[in-house]
Amino acid sequence: MIRKIAVLTSGGDAPGMNACVRAVIRAGLARGIDMYVVYDGLKGLVEGHIEQVNKDFTQDIINRGGTIIRSARLPEFKDPKVSKRAASILQDFEIDALVGIGGDGTFRGLNDLAKNGIKVVGIPGTIDNDVGSTELTIGFSTALNTICECVDKLKDTSGSHQRCSLIEVMGRHCGDLALYAALAEGAEGVICVEHPLKEEVLFRKLRKMKAQNKNHAIIIVSENLLDINELAKKIEDETGFDTRTEVLGRLQRGGSPSAEDRVLAARMGAKSVDIVMSDDPTSKVIGVRGGQIIDLPIAEAVEMKHEHTHGLRDLIDLLQ
Ligand code: ATP
Repeated sequence: MIRKIAVLTSGGDAPGMNACVRAVIRAGLARGIDMYVVYDGLKGLVEGHIEQVNKDFTQDIINRGGTIIRSARLPEFKDPKVSKRAASILQDFEIDALVGIGGDGTFRGLNDLAKNGIKVVGIPGTIDNDVGSTELTIGFSTALNTICECVDKLKDTSGSHQRCSLIEVMGRHCGDLALYAALAEGAEGVICVEHPLKEEVLFRKLRKMKAQNKNHAIIIVSENLLDINELAKKIEDETGFDTRTEVLGRLQRGGSPSAEDRVLAARMGAKSVDIVMSDDPTSKVIGVRGGQIIDLPIAEAVEMKHEHTHGLRDLIDLLQ
């Protein structure tokens, strides 16, 4: 019989984590479960930073960015001794199940807890949308909207000054933020793992634009792929475009979650409690597939690679 459930947030913070924490706590309380939070992610778990909470804890957090129970990184969690200690702390608190909101790394940590006899449920929360077992993560929609707001503003100034703007966005292993932003902004170029830079193609295109008197361009670039300042210099040399760079950085993580992220958080949070309460002892992760909320065994989920959005890439090429 399930009496106590704990929830934590881990990895990079993402807008909508609070809405999800709220949903988990409220769905648990509605079923008469004692609800706990773990502060500071898996690190806080190892340190026993655990507290029982009531409904008041969840007041007025649905629209707040970041995570009020905080997040942290603890690389040592990969050490089996550390995950074993974390599992024994949950057992000391007599906690029957743990819901963890985070990305792929968090899911691996949760899977290690499952191997130590803890029932866990993973909820994908990360702005990059890079989790293999789901088409959509909590935080992606808000981060994309933030990028689009910034690019809209940069477009005004790059148009006024007839410039090319290279805009670096997050998502080092997964270009979803770059691809969706490029599509949403009608950008002149996108460079990401799924759509690598072909210098000559880009330069040819920019030269052609200049020749046709279109003197401003937006190019979206995923972080950590190349040095955008070097590329800007090359563009100036090769095409004559006055070129500026902008790194959006951690701005992309912040802000009040979009309605889409809040609704996704509510659906996934409530589902996590259903999974905990079910007779099936398997530890699971929650995801979205074809618009439906699904679940699958965590041991399977951690082996899955994110399906890159090749369809989107082709669409961008077609519409440029
Ligand atoms: P994001 O991608 O948004 O940063 P994430 O959950 O992937 O989210 P990570 O920093 O990769 O973020 O992982 C969060 C925490 O999960 C790590 O600090 C570590 O404690 C734990 N973790 C990561 N990888 C593993 C692993 N291979 N085995 C066990 N635990 C892991």
